[in-house]
Amino acid sequence: MMKHDFDLIVIGAGSGGVRAARVAAAHGAKVAIIEEYKVGGTCVIRGCVPKKLLIYGAHFAEDLNDAAMFGWDIPGCTFNWPVLRDNVLAEVGRLEAIYTQTLANHEVTIFHERGELAGPNEVRLASGEVRSARIILVATGARPMLPPVSGVEHAITSNEVFHLERLPKRIVIAGGGYIANEFAGIFHQFGSHVTVVNRSDTILRGYDEQLRDRLLQISLAKGIDFKFNSTFNSIEKAEDGTLKIDMGGCDDLEADEVLFAIGRKPNVDGLGLDAAGVALGDKGQIKVDDDNRTNVPSIYAVGDVTDRIQLTPVAIREGQAFADSVFGDKPTRVDYANVPHAVFSHPPIASVGLTEGQAKNKLGSVRTFTSDFRPMKNVLAGRNERSLYKIIVDETTDVIVGLHMIGPDAPEILQAAAIAVKAKLTKADFDATFALHPTMAEELVLMK
Ligand code: NDP
Repeated sequence: MMKHDFDLIVIGAGSGGVRAARVAAAHGAKVAIIEEYKVGGTCVIRGCVPKKLLIYGAHFAEDLNDAAMFGWDIPGCTFNWPVLRDNVLAEVGRLEAIYTQTLANHEVTIFHERGELAGPNEVRLASGEVRSARIILVATGARPMLPPVSGVEHAITSNEVFHLERLPKRIVIAGGGYIANEFAGIFHQFGSHVTVVNRSDTILRGYDEQLRDRLLQISLAKGIDFKFNSTFNSIEKAEDGTLKIDMGGCDDLEADEVLFAIGRKPNVDGLGLDAAGVALGDKGQIKVDDDNRTNVPSIYAVGDVTDRIQLTPVAIREGQAFADSVFGDKPTRVDYANVPHAVFSHPPIASVGLTEGQAKNKLGSVRTFTSDFRPMKNVLAGRNERSLYKIIVDETTDVIVGLHMIGPDAPEILQAAAIAVKAKLTKADFDATFALHPTMAEELVLMK
């Protein structure tokens, strides 16, 4: 007879949790997963997937504009936000059903309610029922941070942005990171007036400086406003619905929506971590070792709740490594070197490896190759936006240690180039590769 109800209970059915549950079940474990909202987590339900679909929708604005120079006369083009919103939400519903089906196919029991730890091997469900497992995996993700500002309840976060009843004429976006720049592009293309407000004097800290500056210049030229070194004092809602924002560091602002995108914090509140004796780090994250194990031997954690790299593919790898190691007799550790990342701004940025600054600090002598060009499509369309690609090479070994791009399809191109960086190919390998002409990506093998 089994000592516990399950071999594994996973709390949180997001990217990391679903992968871990599915793989552990495939290894023969009896698995349950607890999810209080929808199966799929942030990425599928209110993150990467619906965001990318909005990016596609937003891109039509530029393409329709550019189409005229390519001979297309498209009169009476209008944008209908509810149509796109509802189609995107329907697609999210379809994906949620697929995720749920996948779990069912692997005979994973799903509890559609909230769960909290009641001890090292026990979880208490919202219904009051207590279930036990030999191993518990916490994969509860993270949630948007909100600042302690009076009137913040009038603002939205990336959770609500996909459900807006109507498109705002004016939107103020707080933050200068991923979400702020992605939604600045989206709303601008849909015709909203966008103001991005950041507490510091920069956007996208951590990305290559030249790329960040290129995105800022292109965004400014498009008409997106930026307020730097600025903070929110209070937000008041007027009778006509206008949000009146009292600002520090810049003039006061008015908007129809305020979107806070100032980072995400681990979802640990009310999880019973104290009861189970699980230790947290200084950012409120669950502390784990290289095997995703907490200080309590029967409790593991993966994904954003551990605040390592807050990216879906990383959570998936962690979930897979956990399940293979603990249930598959295949000890696996995630290699966090050269994780590619992208900002789906307009135009997008994509990056892998060290920035020029990081490479100089780490390696001493580096060579930097740059291609600053105007894609031929932009030339014919009369669009002034220039792309910028950078390759950072270790001078001693000729190995490419960083690759950074801003321009159309940069994330699509970089995904393939990231294989070369991960494989430690050299600049000579790139030079020896024939160009595929005419493409934008050929610049990668033509830099002198
Ligand atoms: P980011 O960490 O990307 O950016 C946060 C921004 O908010 C920064 O500009 C930062 O300023 C500012 N900020 C941080 N703390 C505060 C504060 N207390 N008050 C005011 N401003 C503050 O966060 P996002 O919310 O945009 O995204 C969260 C995470 O989600 C990302 O880090 C990323 O891992 C993930 N994500 C990934 C995407 C992708 O892969 N394409 C898309 C969306 C999200 P400064 O840096 O100048 O100090």
